[in-house]
Amino acid sequence: MTVAAELRMFLRPGRRGDRIAVACDGVSSLGHVVESLGVPRTEVGGLTVNGHEETPRYRPRGGDVVQVHAAPRPQPLASARFLLDVHLGALARRLRLLGLDAAYANDADDDDLVSQANAERRVLLTQDRGLLCRRRLWAGAYVRGARPDDQLRDVLDRFVPPLAPWTRCTVCNGQLQPVAKPLIDQLLEPGTRRTYQVFARCQACGRVYWQGAHAARLKAIVDGASAARAAASRAASEAWLPGAGSTRETARLETGWPGQG
Ligand SMILES: [Zn+2]
Repeated sequence: MTVAAELRMFLRPGRRGDRIAVACDGVSSLGHVVESLGVPRTEVGGLTVNGHEETPRYRPRGGDVVQVHAAPRPQPLASARFLLDVHLGALARRLRLLGLDAAYANDADDDDLVSQANAERRVLLTQDRGLLCRRRLWAGAYVRGARPDDQLRDVLDRFVPPLAPWTRCTVCNGQLQPVAKPLIDQLLEPGTRRTYQVFARCQACGRVYWQGAHAARLKAIVDGASAARAAASRAASEAWLPGAGSTRETARLETGWPGQG
């Protein structure tokens, strides 16, 4: 069996060579065999047996030569909606900052996560391979990287989702709407009231956002992600480029409202 280089990180050390010998029992499906080596099915883009494409249901026989391909990048999505497992809270906030629909709850158990992903048609993002091997799960992805910024880069590179920075509440995932200052005036601390003029409010939780002191750090995240996405877009086919071009994103950045109350 030859496993794509991008997937060898999932194999046991010592089994990461160009070709590995795998015993087959004549009963297990190829999908099961690949998964038992440690590669989640969500990360597999295709299977080739003796030069022919096969499905995961294929039953391998002695002497078969199998190639395991990685999921394509970019990987098209029906809709760019995500659900993050409990360990990826920092990544969830970064995705929301970029306007992506990223559901997250720090108390969800594995069954909850699979049920919610299926019911809401969200791609489950996790670093738990066992979770990605759940039979019931409709779509998921293994997130690479230990640091949230690296994880963000991985998700953007893989799915190239359309971005709309500063349009979503980083706390609850609700959508932000511009709000006139007099309408929220009574919610502001005196210092904030004096200093800031442009505000937005979360439609879901009512939290008020404005251009705050940590705006520069947040803008750096948005700028970095937008640049990474632009690079990934150039590599993608025309058909996969969504309507939101870099010009519109830049306009949003300039009129956006980093910071939070
Ligand atoms: Zn909110």
